[in-house]
Amino acid sequence: KTREVYADKTIDSVCPFCGVGCLTSVSVKDGKVVSVEGRNGPANENRLCVKGRFGFDYVSSPERLTKPLVRRDDAPKDVGISLTIDNYLEVFREASWDEALDRAAIGLKATFETKGGAGIAGFGSAKGSNEEAYLFQKLIRQGFQTNNVDHCTRLCHASSVAALMEGIGSGAVTAPFNAAEDADCMIVIGARPEQNHPVAATYIKQAAKNGTKLIVMDPRGQGLMRHADYGLKFKPGTDVAMLNAILNVIVTEKLYDEQYIAAHVDGFEALKEKIQDFTPEAMEPVCGIDAGTLREVARLYATSPRSIIYWGMGVSQHVHGTDNVRCLIAMALTTGQIGRPGTGLHPLRGQNNVQGASDAGLIPMVFPDYRSVENVDIRAEYEDAWGRTLDPVRGLTVVEIMDDILAGGIEAMYIQGENPAMSDPDQNHARKALSSLKHLVVQDIFLTETAWHADVILPASAHAEKLGTYTNTNRQVQIGRPCVPMPGEARADWELIIAIANRLGLDWSYDGVPAIYEEMRSHMASIQNISWERLEREGTVTYPADSPDKPGNEILFGQSFPTADGRGKIVPTDLVPPDETPDADFPMVLTTGRMLEHWHTGAMTRRAAVLDAIEPEPVVSMNPRDIKLQGLEIGQQVTVETRRGAITLTLRADRDVSTGMMFVPFCFYEAPANFLTNPQLDPFGKIPEFKFCAARISAAEHQ
Ligand code: SF4
Repeated sequence: KTREVYADKTIDSVCPFCGVGCLTSVSVKDGKVVSVEGRNGPANENRLCVKGRFGFDYVSSPERLTKPLVRRDDAPKDVGISLTIDNYLEVFREASWDEALDRAAIGLKATFETKGGAGIAGFGSAKGSNEEAYLFQKLIRQGFQTNNVDHCTRLCHASSVAALMEGIGSGAVTAPFNAAEDADCMIVIGARPEQNHPVAATYIKQAAKNGTKLIVMDPRGQGLMRHADYGLKFKPGTDVAMLNAILNVIVTEKLYDEQYIAAHVDGFEALKEKIQDFTPEAMEPVCGIDAGTLREVARLYATSPRSIIYWGMGVSQHVHGTDNVRCLIAMALTTGQIGRPGTGLHPLRGQNNVQGASDAGLIPMVFPDYRSVENVDIRAEYEDAWGRTLDPVRGLTVVEIMDDILAGGIEAMYIQGENPAMSDPDQNHARKALSSLKHLVVQDIFLTETAWHADVILPASAHAEKLGTYTNTNRQVQIGRPCVPMPGEARADWELIIAIANRLGLDWSYDGVPAIYEEMRSHMASIQNISWERLEREGTVTYPADSPDKPGNEILFGQSFPTADGRGKIVPTDLVPPDETPDADFPMVLTTGRMLEHWHTGAMTRRAAVLDAIEPEPVVSMNPRDIKLQGLEIGQQVTVETRRGAITLTLRADRDVSTGMMFVPFCFYEAPANFLTNPQLDPFGKIPEFKFCAARISAAEHQ
């Protein structure tokens, strides 16, 4: 009734923020979103968190880009970054769409003609739809004959995907987060779902309340520990020590499932050998968890009838991120805790469409559905479909692309909806790389920190303004619908990608978003039985579905794994220390992450009035004992410094942060946490070590 009075219309859509994929009802008045309510979707059952409910007014922000812009000839590329748009016309001038698109394409083409595909790279976006992700990777691969195309999955779960592909032949979750309802035991490690996947956290808390045993493992304390039977605050960076000790107990106490291993798993003998020395007693001083607790947790996980593991970026964002996930996979495979209701492996995906963008091939090693670019037969299929010879080698990843620019390789980039000038590690390095490009095209809804380096800026569409599909962390494909018109001359992202493609002579023609989806579907076995028409009819469909009229499979791999021989593979791991450990000059550990109110680099939530009012300024959180020890005052301005940079922000006391540690969220442009972070990569997933570097703190010079 309220909506009938205050709104002109209400449209069914999906939340634009995290990977939970809550379904929404968006109410619109006079062309603006005025409220958002939860709908009865499979992932949220009418629930929404603070971001989904109150974070909508960024769409109508006066800071939206409404006209194409081109850089003024005399404006330097390394112009200071500012979020105020007051002075942007000193750097850019407004242009017609024809001029902006021509310039964008001519610059990319010129680089391709002189340097070939090796001179070009593209970042697509996990905030865009599946159709946009598919088109973007197609444009880079077909148009520039390179696989230098990536997106922010490289910064969140690339190591999880690497380990999962290696171990069980699939990079997605084996069970939805709602499987908590069927579990007897849950492990949540390196994840803070209460902040980052709040509606998923409600299922975990509810299950714990109903008697499911909850084990939370995190170097920082967190709200979920209040609901836990075991809260393991292990020393940062020692995940492998702790998990191998658990595996040691599973093996030495014979808690493993011999029959399951014989039928489904390789690598158990190698694991047995490797974990001999990782006794709980030997690992206690390394990880800081007493041996008795490690034994109890191992027994609980292994002997519960149904156990499930959830993890987040506390696991993945390390130089040993892939090893961390290998340990979790080994736990599931040795005990057979996978492939049944209430069991499984669930990496909680961060952005609303990071699962879908990865599935759609927006990564440098694979075409859609994780099919290798290095496989001759697979490549031939795409060469036939796209009429071009394609690059036979895997492309560069996000951080490698920045390095390659500064090494004189890549000279031109097309960045759609990503903000590497905030999200990449070691920002001095990343921003220098962006400003060194000869040609940079940025397509976005705001003048982001990245856009300030651009030669051409294409004003694009917010989630609430366009049609498209999004795949959440549960593998549920869902439709987002246009609710409000785009501001000024802004255009839908998929239309802009097509416009660039046609200026490159690719001759693309799509009769709207459903036609793009259907082309994508023709290349993807995973969504083969999920037509656009079916999505329209059912609203949400989980992939894979066995037939066009059967529901999708929520629980995967009960019988076999999608590997060459159908068996899962355990890969034993060794201890790899963090790349940069504290010393006399930088005695503390810095870790970074998100906060409940702000999402990723803050471009959207910092422009949402309610959310920014709750968390309006950059903060560093520290244990009160460390604050006292260092002679600092709560609320004062402090400078946090690492070997790569320094930022000044407000000091906050937080008992959840262990002594010797600091936490800085990466959403504040005023004090970007990534000026501090270490770009060292995990060798398999190529993910940077955002979760650990050496740092120091002092009172800021000007209080
Ligand atoms: Fe949106 Fe995630 Fe919150 Fe759901 S839990 S409302 S998807 S931000």
